[in-house]
Amino acid sequence: MFNKILIANRGEIAVRIVRACHELGVRAVVAYSEADRYSLAVRTADEAVCIGPAPSPRSYLNQSALISAARITGCDAIHPGYGFLSENAYFAEICAQYGITFIGPSPEAIRLMGDKIEGRTTMRAAGVPIVPGSEGELKSLDEAVELAVGIGYPVLLKPAGGGGGRGMRVANDEAELVRYYATAKSEAEAAFGNGALLLEKYLPKVRHVEIQVLADQYGNAIHLGERDCSSQRRHQKIIEESPSPAVSPELRARMGEAALKGVRAINYVNAGTMEFLLDPEGNFYFIEMNTRIQVEHPVTELVTGLDLVRWQLRIASGEHLTIQQADVELRGHAIECRVNAEDPERDFMPSVGEIQYYLPPGGPGVRVDSHLYNGYTVPGNYDSLLAKMLVWAPTREEAIVRMKRALGETVIHGIKTTIPFQMGLLDDEVFQHGFMHTRYVGEMMPKWLETRKK
Ligand code: ADP
Repeated sequence: MFNKILIANRGEIAVRIVRACHELGVRAVVAYSEADRYSLAVRTADEAVCIGPAPSPRSYLNQSALISAARITGCDAIHPGYGFLSENAYFAEICAQYGITFIGPSPEAIRLMGDKIEGRTTMRAAGVPIVPGSEGELKSLDEAVELAVGIGYPVLLKPAGGGGGRGMRVANDEAELVRYYATAKSEAEAAFGNGALLLEKYLPKVRHVEIQVLADQYGNAIHLGERDCSSQRRHQKIIEESPSPAVSPELRARMGEAALKGVRAINYVNAGTMEFLLDPEGNFYFIEMNTRIQVEHPVTELVTGLDLVRWQLRIASGEHLTIQQADVELRGHAIECRVNAEDPERDFMPSVGEIQYYLPPGGPGVRVDSHLYNGYTVPGNYDSLLAKMLVWAPTREEAIVRMKRALGETVIHGIKTTIPFQMGLLDDEVFQHGFMHTRYVGEMMPKWLETRKK
């Protein structure tokens, strides 16, 4: 096992990694920006190093500052968390050059899966079903139009280097495709430094179902079942759960096997997620692989009883995966609400400022992953995730009741949060019956806003 790890991240995930380090007897060093001087991660770490000013290009994305911080403090590994440099193949390479273990897969695997076009091609060759669409990068508008005629509208224009649900455009007919093509390309270039687009059939009533995988350096790989992340607003996840109400044991086995085919095809090592869209007929299609720990990993931890972050460390340090597929058992039901610093009544406008009073929920079956404390000031420089409220219960029905109880207990004074909206979702009939698809949140939004006016 490592001696000391540098955590190249912030917020709740930095705290989460500190906790895993401490449970494994590893010293945790937190790299922080000037805006995060008083963060919970800094307080709980064994050591902390300032790596630069608040804007992330000058701190959390500053590779030389991070490598220097690791060397000065004598760290033998770096955990990148999610976001920032977690899917940066070049950073993984630099770590290796300095003899520091990057806690994640190889630079080759990151590079391959970081590009949605390469990802599609690789997965198709491995026998994993993909969404019908373009073979490679779209070369021209004419090619896009021709392809769209073949696969049928609506179609989706997707940035090959995209992430976080940004930059995608749905075209319902040829006129829209013509209208969106050039803008989508220039937006992709501006946002991701890569103007390459791909075209996919837009599947209207699908669920987002993803498979968690773990693989060691010796060719052993298992899957840990699925997470249903269909509760999304503008392609961004807001509630996740495991298991999915739409996945039978038989379908789980098939999706799991497809995910593992993908893992083997790229010699993937460490924790990763294969994302799929699942249609009402039970057909599933690969959309992308995330080569890192994900925000919603704890729902899998709650139903499997496994600690994914600890496994990331153990795998990266060269340990064997000691769990067999047959040992993986999903017990009960887990739900996560991502509590963001946003005002749902004002189009989810970011809300920043001091947390005057914070009282997290507790009691049976509740887990909170958060970096909040009384008096903490939420900086405006980073993403808006404040806390992940998680519950576990024997059944989905009980988990929903428990989540409502937990959110009802939560007190966050000083800024606006998404909790009132999530309360509304938990009461929504579609959610309660488990009939979610990726657009239902958008569809119920006007109704919810009406109830707030009363
Ligand atoms: P990103 O990397 O930006 O998160 P993804 O490819 O993972 O992009 O897709 C994000 C979300 O967009 C999915 O969860 C789903 O809701 C929607 N989506 C992506 N591809 C399709 C598609 N072909 N048809 C319908 N919805 C899609």
